[in-house]
Amino acid sequence: MQTIRTIKKMQAVAKLLTVKKKKIGLVPTMGALHEGHLSLIRRAKKAADVVIVSVFVNPAQFGPKEDFKKYPRDEKEDLKKIKKAGGDIVFAPEAAEIYPCDYETYVVLENLPKTLEGEIRPDHFRGVATIVSKLFNITRPDLAVFGMKDYQQAMVIKKMTRDLGFPIRIIIAPTVREEDGLAMSSRNRYFDHIGRWEAVCLFYALRTAREMVKAGIVDTKLITKEMRAVILATCAVAKIDYIAFTEFETLKPVKKVVKNTVCSLAVRLHGVRLIDNMKLI
Ligand code: AMP
Repeated sequence: MQTIRTIKKMQAVAKLLTVKKKKIGLVPTMGALHEGHLSLIRRAKKAADVVIVSVFVNPAQFGPKEDFKKYPRDEKEDLKKIKKAGGDIVFAPEAAEIYPCDYETYVVLENLPKTLEGEIRPDHFRGVATIVSKLFNITRPDLAVFGMKDYQQAMVIKKMTRDLGFPIRIIIAPTVREEDGLAMSSRNRYFDHIGRWEAVCLFYALRTAREMVKAGIVDTKLITKEMRAVILATCAVAKIDYIAFTEFETLKPVKKVVKNTVCSLAVRLHGVRLIDNMKLI
């Protein structure tokens, strides 16, 4: 496995692979890898000849009061995990390689980023769309794999890929969960024992929503009320940023759950902000 730090070298290697007619799969990550990330690498490996995994904590997607500085970084462990999962090339640039001091070009979607996460993290998707566009140009992939765990991000990237005409197939892979149902996340490392135990409240709430829908209750107001109760019963100190019901691709809000409605939520507990989602039918 090869680790590449510069754009120039990565572009040269990608060009050579393309000349050799190798199908390139890209898996963008911010490191601190867990089984969720590794599932994306394995998914990419199924569809591509060569899998490039980027490891880059992207400063442009963090707000000024967010956890950029303390975001977990463990490159040595990450490299071992990527190799074991079948990654072929790691692209791990320094921040100054991606954003030199005179950097000024950003990719902005007009509408998709305005709801859900975007309401609370206003410049987050500008940072995401910018880094993913840059990674697309640097690694020239045929396909790229993203996790449904970051539902809105996956939809933003799908739309951006279509709008800008990147010739890249976007694959969205299912969320990998811990045994108790908590969605795997690099931020789960922040929890102490009690916090970790209570963090499962997001999954409990989503499971409640799914069960209500199965029982024929489709009114999102009723479901939201029940989800709030479940969260607060599991974690009394939880602060719910939002519980939303949206159409899968457009993120348009729905009042009644129908096929492909996604329920997503963001909750802050014990100083950690978690997001999760589930397709309800
Ligand atoms: P991150 O390192 O958090 O930026 O995530 C990199 C990629 O891994 C994104 O496409 C995420 O959606 C995906 N991902 C994160 N957590 C999970 C998970 N639990 N299951 C599947 N994919 C995930």
